[in-house]
Amino acid sequence: MTFPKKTESNQRTVSRAGRGQVPDFTFPIGNESVILPAHYRIKGINYLIFNLLMENQGRTELSSLGEFGIINRIASKTEKYQESTRTGIGDDAAVLAYPAGEEVLVSTDLLAEGVHFDLSYTPLHLLGYKAVAVNLSDIAAMNAVPRQILVSLALSNRFSMEAIEALYDGIRQACKEYHVDLAGGDTTSSQSGLVLSVTALGTQKPDLIVNRSGARVGDLICVSGDLGSAYMGLQILRREKKVFEADPDMQPEISDEQAYLLQRQLKPEARTDIVYELAEKNILPNSMIDVSDGLASELFHLCSKSGVGVQIFEDKIPVENLTKLAASDFGLSPLTCALNGGEDYELLFTVPLSEFDKVAKMPDVSIIGVVKNADYGKKLVLKSGQETELKAQGWVHF
Ligand SMILES: [Mg+2]
Repeated sequence: MTFPKKTESNQRTVSRAGRGQVPDFTFPIGNESVILPAHYRIKGINYLIFNLLMENQGRTELSSLGEFGIINRIASKTEKYQESTRTGIGDDAAVLAYPAGEEVLVSTDLLAEGVHFDLSYTPLHLLGYKAVAVNLSDIAAMNAVPRQILVSLALSNRFSMEAIEALYDGIRQACKEYHVDLAGGDTTSSQSGLVLSVTALGTQKPDLIVNRSGARVGDLICVSGDLGSAYMGLQILRREKKVFEADPDMQPEISDEQAYLLQRQLKPEARTDIVYELAEKNILPNSMIDVSDGLASELFHLCSKSGVGVQIFEDKIPVENLTKLAASDFGLSPLTCALNGGEDYELLFTVPLSEFDKVAKMPDVSIIGVVKNADYGKKLVLKSGQETELKAQGWVHF
């Protein structure tokens, strides 16, 4: 099928006043539906390039609301999930009261339009969701529990209040999903484009915090989920953008199966579930990191921080068939996508060998190798049995 596709069941028939006669449009991303308001679409063409239309239809100018008007609209919809948020948005500073004996973890990310994201194929609400999820992923990678986020925005008058609301809809959706509070932030104007900064706060007892530096020789190397799929999602989005630019009347060619790859790119999840599962099984990893820049590069970080080497097995690296199929479409090696693709936001961790039975039973965790001493270096054992040097970067094309 083409994607997004209009069907009787997913097409809303009620048009919104002031937004023309084009109905809202629903399309599936993974197991949920994403509703695109009609004004996202260009001349009724079902295409992913919808943010552009934010510029001229049904818009409320930011200048008509002013900074306090914007903040009030954001604050009025904000829900509270955390006991520890004493005072959230609306005062000079947030007041947070964490349980005694827990340490505070802080992580921040700055995302700039054109550098970190492309609004021609990133729906604003998914950008909001992703900005939160990737920050929470860093808190999860420390084996900690996320509690609050702070969000700061700089944006040009190209964006309307509706665009900001879409962004915050995604931010709020992520807050709900992960039970974190939007506790503050700032909004200001920029000369051009959108800059989005998210700071995440989490807590954990000091002896349960897991660093990159704790990997020990003999540890099992484990990774959650699958790798390389987000990268293939990005390739598809870029391809469809090029097709669209060449001929705006073309419908995107995205199958149901490929929607998973898009979901991995556009709506990644932080693996806080793995943190809970490890705690439930009474497993404390020796070291942990999240996979944001690709498995190989994260392994290099673990090695340098822990002063160890690694041996990884190609046939143990979790790569979905969909990813393999898409990679072969693009003439890319699935192994390279998994090693160097990035944006997987899975957790990579090491556990003592004695935990083998427990981690082997975790349904969404793969054991991919072992920690070696530093002299051994970083090696990848190919399916053929041949051992090669693991490279942090470098693309292998067919
Ligand atoms: Mg990280």
